[in-house]
Amino acid sequence: MLKDYYRATNYYMRVLRELIFPRRCAVCGNVIDTAYLCPACRKGYALQKYVQLKPREEFLAGQAEPMAEDMLDSVLLLYKYDGILKEALQRLKFSSEASLLPLLSEEAEAALPSAKLRWLSQFDVITCIPTSPERRAQRGFDVPEAIFAPLLEQRGGEFQAQLLSRVRSTLPLFELSPQQRREELNGCFELKPSATRMVAGKRVLLCDDIYTTGSTMAEAARVLRGAGAREVHGVAMCASSHNW
Ligand SMILES: [Zn+2]
Repeated sequence: MLKDYYRATNYYMRVLRELIFPRRCAVCGNVIDTAYLCPACRKGYALQKYVQLKPREEFLAGQAEPMAEDMLDSVLLLYKYDGILKEALQRLKFSSEASLLPLLSEEAEAALPSAKLRWLSQFDVITCIPTSPERRAQRGFDVPEAIFAPLLEQRGGEFQAQLLSRVRSTLPLFELSPQQRREELNGCFELKPSATRMVAGKRVLLCDDIYTTGSTMAEAARVLRGAGAREVHGVAMCASSHNW
């Protein structure tokens, strides 16, 4: 009884709060019902670009320094790395401002309406690109996992956020050439021993926050393919401008 009373009170408090302080679009300030951007502003950032790639046989044998097109079957890029999304991701990554997480995770969900959710259902395993344990401990969370978990945790067994681990830290990649990126990333990920049987023969989806040249995803995909993954696809919250 008391619990019902509190539940009802909480509900009315929330309704009251939204009446006094309605949700507003973080860009233009228009009143909105869900997420953080109004449909018009969301459309301005939307990329929704599906890139079909084709892994080349010679790289499947486990050669070092693969490129995205050597290792990934496809990648879905949800938004442009621009404006408020760029700012939110940068503040999240570099100042650990966790209060910006709901913006990104709710906008990720808004970018994946029902047709895209059906697209997700083709994967046997969904996992995330990990940051180093030190960064994770310092920040309290991993950005890709924190963005996609609210959306994917409802999917049950196939979402296994931490199958990969980062075994060494890497230099910031944005200043490096594609070749230097691949060299820097080579060997930085490992599949957790318990995860090997989970990916063998499976279609795997990798989630990441920012897609630039695809070299991070390619390196993670190389590890997954080495463990026998049949296909490796990617989804990224934001993609840098040369992908637009
Ligand atoms: Zn707006």
